[in-house]
Amino acid sequence: MEVVSDVGALRERVRGIRCRGGSIGLVPTMGYLHDGHVRLAAEARAENDYVIASIYLNPTQFGPNEDLASYPRELSRDEDILRTAGVDVLFLPDTETMYPDGPTQQTIWVEPGSLAEHLCGASRPGHFQAVATVVAKLFNMVQPDRAYFGQKDAQQAAIIARMVRDLAFPLEIRIVETVREKDGLALSSRNVYLSREERPQAAALSRALAAGRAAIQSGERDARQVEAVMRARITKGAPRSRIDYVAVVDPVSLQPVDRIDREALLAVAVYFGTTRLIDNTLASTDRKAA
Ligand code: AMP
Repeated sequence: MEVVSDVGALRERVRGIRCRGGSIGLVPTMGYLHDGHVRLAAEARAENDYVIASIYLNPTQFGPNEDLASYPRELSRDEDILRTAGVDVLFLPDTETMYPDGPTQQTIWVEPGSLAEHLCGASRPGHFQAVATVVAKLFNMVQPDRAYFGQKDAQQAAIIARMVRDLAFPLEIRIVETVREKDGLALSSRNVYLSREERPQAAALSRALAAGRAAIQSGERDARQVEAVMRARITKGAPRSRIDYVAVVDPVSLQPVDRIDREALLAVAVYFGTTRLIDNTLASTDRKAA
């Protein structure tokens, strides 16, 4: 695996691949990799001739009271993981590469509009504008045929898919299923922040989502009732937590729904101390669907 920090060197490598007619899959990450990232890389490996992964901790997507300074980092372990996953090129840009005039001088942004109004967008103002903008930069630098994102970050995935459509980026977005621990906790780089008491309680997020989905499958159509079922599960299973949101939204527009008459996205965000965990599931109204 080649490690490239310079965008000129990256473009040269990409040109070489293109000359040989090779296709490129991109896996953008913020590092401190786990099996969720590995799943993204594996799907990229299966569908493309070359896989480029990126690690960049984008400062503009962290709020002033968020965990940019303490975000876990372990680059040499990440490199081993990506090499083992069959990644061809690791793109490791620095902030000067991503923001030539500095992050505070970035003038043109990708604005996700109503897609950032609810869910995580409500408690993280500016977050998705920064995510969409940095991903647009990565798309322009790498020029992949396909880019891989996790369903775990459902709002991010929906915004990136919409950006590609609205701004005519010449690539396909692939959304990859959430990888979980045995007890259902979605893998996340932030899980290391959980204390010994908090860790088992964190399984309450996926259990609440399962309970919400089960309620829909057994005929509940009132979104507020489904939210109440999920809230109750979290309050009971995770007494050390504080709920940020529990929501039933349309999977494409991300707007809240009142009556559930087609597939819905159930999404939760919960704080354990200052650690914020998110999870979601798609819920079908079809009684036969899982
Ligand atoms: P991050 O490094 O947290 O920015 O994540 C990089 C990519 O990995 C994003 O597209 C995430 O949605 C995806 N991802 C994170 N956690 C998981 C997971 N548990 N399963 C699948 N994909 C994930």
